Amino acid sequence: RSINGFSTAAVAEELITPPVQISLTQHLINGQFVDAASGKTFPTYDPRTAEIIAHVAEGDAEDINRAVAAARKAFDEGPWPKMTAYERSRILLRFADLVEKHSEELAALETWNNGKPYEQAAKSELPLLIRLFHYYAGWADKIHGLTVPADGDYHVQTLHEPIGVAGQIIPWNFPLLMFAWKVGPALACGNTIVLKTAEQTPLTALYVAKLFQEAGLPPGVLNVVSGYGPTAGAALASHMDVDKLAFTGSTDTGKIVLELAARSNLKPVTLELGGKSPFIVCEDADVDKAVELAHFALFFNQGQCCCAGSRTYVHERVYDEFLEKAKARAVRRVVGDPFKSGVEQGPQIDLEQFEKVLRYIRAGIQSNATLECGGDRFGSKGYFIQPTVFSNVQDDMLIAKDEIFGPVQSIFKFKDIDEVIRRANATRYGLAAGVFTKSLDTANTLTRALRAGTVWINCFDVFDAAIPFGGYKMSGIGREKGIYSLHNYLQVKAVVTPLKKAAWL
Ligand code: NAD
Repeated sequence: RSINGFSTAAVAEELITPPVQISLTQHLINGQFVDAASGKTFPTYDPRTAEIIAHVAEGDAEDINRAVAAARKAFDEGPWPKMTAYERSRILLRFADLVEKHSEELAALETWNNGKPYEQAAKSELPLLIRLFHYYAGWADKIHGLTVPADGDYHVQTLHEPIGVAGQIIPWNFPLLMFAWKVGPALACGNTIVLKTAEQTPLTALYVAKLFQEAGLPPGVLNVVSGYGPTAGAALASHMDVDKLAFTGSTDTGKIVLELAARSNLKPVTLELGGKSPFIVCEDADVDKAVELAHFALFFNQGQCCCAGSRTYVHERVYDEFLEKAKARAVRRVVGDPFKSGVEQGPQIDLEQFEKVLRYIRAGIQSNATLECGGDRFGSKGYFIQPTVFSNVQDDMLIAKDEIFGPVQSIFKFKDIDEVIRRANATRYGLAAGVFTKSLDTANTLTRALRAGTVWINCFDVFDAAIPFGGYKMSGIGREKGIYSLHNYLQVKAVVTPLKKAAWL
C-alpha cells in the first residue's frame, strides 16, 4: 500500500489504543491542582487530526506570581532544602518507580499530544526519563564542597548550597525528557521549581507532577503552570523572586528571556537553543550504514530535534551512491498514525510548524536545490509531511542556513577534510555534529576541529543521563545532564575560619 508514493506496508492494521484519559488540565500550585486565576483556558490538540483533545488552564502573570510565592515559601521554610539529601534521593527514586508503573499511559499521552511514534515514546523516551531520575537521585547525597588550602592560618571550606527558586521553561518536541533534564538536577540539589510547559504540549508534565506528589514531594516544591510564552513565560523569566532560569527553545526566544532575566534581578540563565548540525560522511564510509545513520540523525522525531543532523555532508567519492540510497530510504520511511506499530514518522506538532516546514521546502525548490523526493504534505488531515530529500544544496541557500525543524534532509558534496571543517563550522549554531568514518585519525581531526557541544562518531542521538549536552555559539549557554547540570543549580559559599585564636577576638 502507498500514500502519495510513500510506503505504508510495514504498518500493522491494529491501532494501539491510547490507554489513557485526560484528567489533569489545571496548574499545580502549592500541591493543589487549580484553575487559572483569570479562569481562562486554552485548547490543546491531537496533531494527527488537528482536533481539540482538552482545554487547559491558561496561566499568566498572576498564576506565575502564585506559583513563585509557593516555591519561595517551600524553599525558605522547608522542609525540602533542609531535609537530608538521602531523603530527597529516596523521593526521586520513588517517583522514578511510579513513572515506570505508569509508563504506558505516559507514553500514550505523550504521543497523543505531540504526535511522536508511540513505540519511540514507550521504548526509548520513558526509559531515559526513568534513568535520568535514578541518575540524579544518586547525586543528591554526593553533592558537597571542598576544603581549600589558603594562605595564612585559616580553615577554608566551600559549601555547595541550592540556589533557591528555579524557573524552568521547556519546549514541545520532547515534553517529558525536557521536564526530566530540568527538574532532575534542580531537585537533587534541593531547589524548588516553577516550570512552564510549552503551550502545544501541557499534558504529560501535569501527569508526572501528580506522580511526584504521590512519591512524597512536599507541596510547593514543584509547581507546574501551563500557558503561552509572552505571558506566563515572560512573567517567569522576569520575576524578581526567581533565583535561576533554565530555558530550552528557539534562539530568538532565548535572547528575549536572557534580556528579561538581566533587566529584572540578574538571575543566572542557562539556555539550550537551536542548531544546524553537520553530519559528515567520509570517503571510507560503508555507504549503506552511513545512509541509515544520516537518515536517523535527521528524520528522528519528525525532524523536530534541536541537534538534528540537518546538513548531510558527503564526500564526492561516495556522493552519488549515497544520494541514491538516501532517497530510497526516505521513500521507504513509514509515515502514518503514530499509535500504529512500525510507524517511523508521525505528524509535525502544529499548524504553525507544519506551514513553516512547507515554506522552507518551497524555498529550497526556488533556490534550485534538487528535490529528490517528498516536498508536500502527507495525506489530507493532520500535520503530516512527506520525508523530503534535497541534493545539490549550496551553503548559502536558506535551507542550508536556517533551522527547519522538520523531515527535510539537505545533502551537500565535499572534496577534502579541511574544506568540510570550514563549511561545517560556518554557522551561527554549534549544538552537535556527526562524523562517519573508519579512520581514527580522521575522527580525531574532525572531533577537535568542529565547534559543537557534542560530537557523535559513528553514532548519533545518544542521550545517556551522564552525558552533558549543550551548545557552542548561538546554540546556548551552559550544559544540561551529567555532573555539569548540578552546577546550574548550586551556589558556592566560601567559609573562612581562623585556625588559631582569632586576632579580632
Ligand atoms: P519557542 O522558543 O517558541 O518556545 C519554547 C518555550 O519558550 C515555550 O515554552 C514557549 O511558551 C516559551 N516562550 C515563547 N516565547 C516566550 C517569551 N517571550 N518569554 C518567555 N518564554 C517564551 O520554541 P519552540 O518553537 O516551541 O521550540 C522549538 C525550538 O526549540 C527549536 O528552535 C529547537 O532547536 C529548540 N530546542 C532546543 C533544544 C536544546 O536542547 N537545545 C531542545 C528542544 C528544542
